[in-house]
Amino acid sequence: MKVLVINCGSSSLKYQLINPESGEVFAIGLCERIGIEGSKMDYEAPANDFEIEIKEAMPTHKEALNLVIKAITSPEYGVIKSVEEVDAIGHRVVHGGEDFAGSVLITDAVMDALETCSELAPLHNPANIIGIKTMEELMPGKPNVGVFDTAFHQTMPKEAYMYALPYEDYTELKVRKYGFHGTSHKFVSGVAQELLGNPETSKIIVCHLGNGGSISAVKDGKCIDTTMGLTPLQGIMMGTRCGDIDPAAVLFIKNKRGLTDKEMDSRMNKESGIQGIFGESSDCRDMEIAAAAGNERALLAANMFSYKIRGYVGNYAAQMGGVDAICFTGGIGENSGKVRGEVLHGLEFMGVDLDAEINSKRIKGNVELSTATSKVKVFKIPTNEELVIARDTFAIVKNMK
Ligand code: ADP
Repeated sequence: MKVLVINCGSSSLKYQLINPESGEVFAIGLCERIGIEGSKMDYEAPANDFEIEIKEAMPTHKEALNLVIKAITSPEYGVIKSVEEVDAIGHRVVHGGEDFAGSVLITDAVMDALETCSELAPLHNPANIIGIKTMEELMPGKPNVGVFDTAFHQTMPKEAYMYALPYEDYTELKVRKYGFHGTSHKFVSGVAQELLGNPETSKIIVCHLGNGGSISAVKDGKCIDTTMGLTPLQGIMMGTRCGDIDPAAVLFIKNKRGLTDKEMDSRMNKESGIQGIFGESSDCRDMEIAAAAGNERALLAANMFSYKIRGYVGNYAAQMGGVDAICFTGGIGENSGKVRGEVLHGLEFMGVDLDAEINSKRIKGNVELSTATSKVKVFKIPTNEELVIARDTFAIVKNMK
């Protein structure tokens, strides 16, 4: 079985050809600057130790996907003879609204529902829809499956996902907390359950910390709360997103500065977070280097970053009545022992005993970072969203033939 995993962004496209059962990656790559001058594609075939960068015009996602197909079937460096060897295509879809609590086979009815959800994710869902439509065109007859960032969070109880706004804003406009990064939270909490020895009950907190970041509380395998909301702007401080603020500040800043809606949206999504406080970069590594050199704004950004995450760890431990494991994932969570150490600093009262030496090392794979006697386990677990997409796709299409 071979599943082609497609993750279409507005001007980029990530792809992997995976065996969903073994997890083997046959080909992996990224198309960048789609629709912009200077577009290029990276292609890698790990088993052959082969890598290439292809510079070719990609005015739309169609040219990009055509290039992906050409590369994976290339007689010179491809990994399959023809597209016939691809059994199914799994698509990352950002927003599934309340319609999708799990992955689904794409049908006309599903496409209609996706168009409706687009209103909730205008920057992301249209690109995902283009990806699906293009693959239907380029590989007719092959099953396409949609895997939603929001689906894993659909188990949240109503008191967790409702905003205390007039009720009709929920019933008429569907304004509520949805949560994102669901495939990552699902994967990492699943691995943590295994590392805990698959106990009957479990209380797990997953900190997904990348350029975007979110935390989730997973009780007995089900998400009961997460930090992102109607959009990915809510929750912790991120690379360029502000996270939680007083909503009244939005109107205040917009009016005082005379900004348009679009400008205010961009200020909160692209100019805030680490970028906004540090001022020189949105990148965690740059922030850590500058903070260590005594840059006060970098130090403030670093302190704010861990303060907000620590707050949610405490919040979710309270909501679950305890915690068995705290997991770190994403570019920052997997690589920055400093951030992990600062987030967990002071949580000894909860039973967290971090092994400072192991935490400071860069060890590949899943790593237990707490001491053997720590009541709460701390894990570093590399996320693998593409594998979740491939597995879900396989689970849906395996009985179709
Ligand atoms: P995305 O959300 O775009 O997928 P990633 O999960 O790749 O992002 O995370 C990117 C972030 O990870 C950046 O802020 C980067 O600085 C951070 N990062 C990567 N390696 C390290 C490291 N060794 N130490 C600290 N931060 C790191």
